[in-house]
Amino acid sequence: MEDCIFCKIAAGTIPCRKVLEDDDILAFHDINPTAPVHVLIIPKRHIPTTLDFEAGADDALAGKLITAAARIARELGIDQSGYRLVFNTNGDGGQEVYHVHLHLLGGRKFSWPAG
Ligand code: 5GP
Repeated sequence: MEDCIFCKIAAGTIPCRKVLEDDDILAFHDINPTAPVHVLIIPKRHIPTTLDFEAGADDALAGKLITAAARIARELGIDQSGYRLVFNTNGDGGQEVYHVHLHLLGGRKFSWPAG
């Protein structure tokens, strides 16, 4: 998707502070962090929202985002204190960038229910 900022980050045409990468996914620090640790984990392929994951075909990819988050949490030392994983989806979900991304948030205490 030529107009998608996260596709450009995945392609390397827009820089990012990379945390982890493989053939399918990329993780990088959020440009406007809302916690001491705020990492975004994206599929490299353009998938607009979590509603667009194809059941079956994308199960492994969707799971990989979560297992990557756990690996990054360990590497950044927030696994024992705890962290929050968030997929914002569509307007009421607060989604601003329409390329699926998993927020990994940590380094402070989060409240519940979500605001
Ligand atoms: P959303 O509201 O869509 O779930 O979150 C989008 C996130 O992407 C926001 O936390 C925002 O700060 C982050 N973001 C937007 N543009 C860029 C960018 O160009 N680089 C990085 N690293 N993060 C971005």
